[in-house]
Amino acid sequence: MKAAAFDFSRASDINELTALKEGEKFVAGNQSLGPMMNLRLVRANRLVDIATLPALRKANEHSNHVEFGAAVTHAEIEDGETPDPANGWMKKAAANIAHRAVRNRGTIGGSLAHADPAADWVIVLTGLDAKVALIGPDGERKVNIEDFITGPYTTVLKENEFIASVEVPKRPTSACWGYWKFMRQVGEFAKASATVLIDQENGFYRCALGALEGPPLVLPRPLDIIEGDLGPKKAVEDALSVRKIASYDMHVAALERALEQAKEGLRL
Ligand SMILES: Cc1cc2nc3c(=O)[nH]c(=O)nc-3n(C[C@H](O)[C@H](O)[C@H](O)COP(=O)(O)OP(=O)(O)OC[C@H]3O[C@@H](n4cnc5c(N)ncnc54)[C@H](O)[C@@H]3O)c2cc1C
Repeated sequence: MKAAAFDFSRASDINELTALKEGEKFVAGNQSLGPMMNLRLVRANRLVDIATLPALRKANEHSNHVEFGAAVTHAEIEDGETPDPANGWMKKAAANIAHRAVRNRGTIGGSLAHADPAADWVIVLTGLDAKVALIGPDGERKVNIEDFITGPYTTVLKENEFIASVEVPKRPTSACWGYWKFMRQVGEFAKASATVLIDQENGFYRCALGALEGPPLVLPRPLDIIEGDLGPKKAVEDALSVRKIASYDMHVAALERALEQAKEGLRL
């Protein structure tokens, strides 16, 4: 099946993006929208290409964070063409998204806007405590990543609002990280995933689960999980009271492996 007929234009100015008409949609890498349109799960009268807009293509380093323009591609992060806020962890995560052909086109902003619960950036950026900068007709606002995704394929984006950038806090070299995803084959979406961040210098600890039926879940009591006072099984069980998790055992195992990875880093 192929997509229903649509018009196409390339945005030449960021201001055009807050004035789309009914039936018009942004397209960035087209790696998620294309398949959805081919399956006729999504229709649009016109696609407005934002992938080459200079304002969305930059990654800027600030004192405490790196700001990734929404149209930065997975491949650019994989290749180290962007500043690195997190000791190479984003580079590794990017390299494990799908296949190179998808990574060449797919963008960090497109991935978050699409909000597939199994997507890599959705869980990795939650684990890294990122913020999403949105621009709409009413101006700019910043949303914590945990508040950005509200359900499967659902975000807080309003009509004519777009993701301008994603801000990822810089981590000291002493910080440690674990990211584990279970997938049936390399290049596939995760069946279960988990991240662990141990940033002792800043007193910031985070354990999160991804590939759930909804948005990622930031687990309460991360330090207890990391120090072993709360086992991964009990931590995921407790999370069950917050949200139903179908793939419980896989999520426990993903959390155990992410913990091992992060703690391995502590011993280096
Ligand atoms: C075969 C295949 C395998 C894949 N495997 C994986 C995988 O293992 N892990 C993974 O994480 N992903 C995977 N993906 C998805 C891929 O990472 C996509 O690149 C990503 O999900 C969407 O990014 P995009 O730039 O292509 O967005 P598009 O497809 O262009 O757009 C997706 C949606 O986001 C909207 N949008 C795009 N940019 C913005 C913006 N700046 N502001 C507001 N809305 C916007 C569009 O209107 C559309 O609704 C796979 C894709 C394919 C085709």
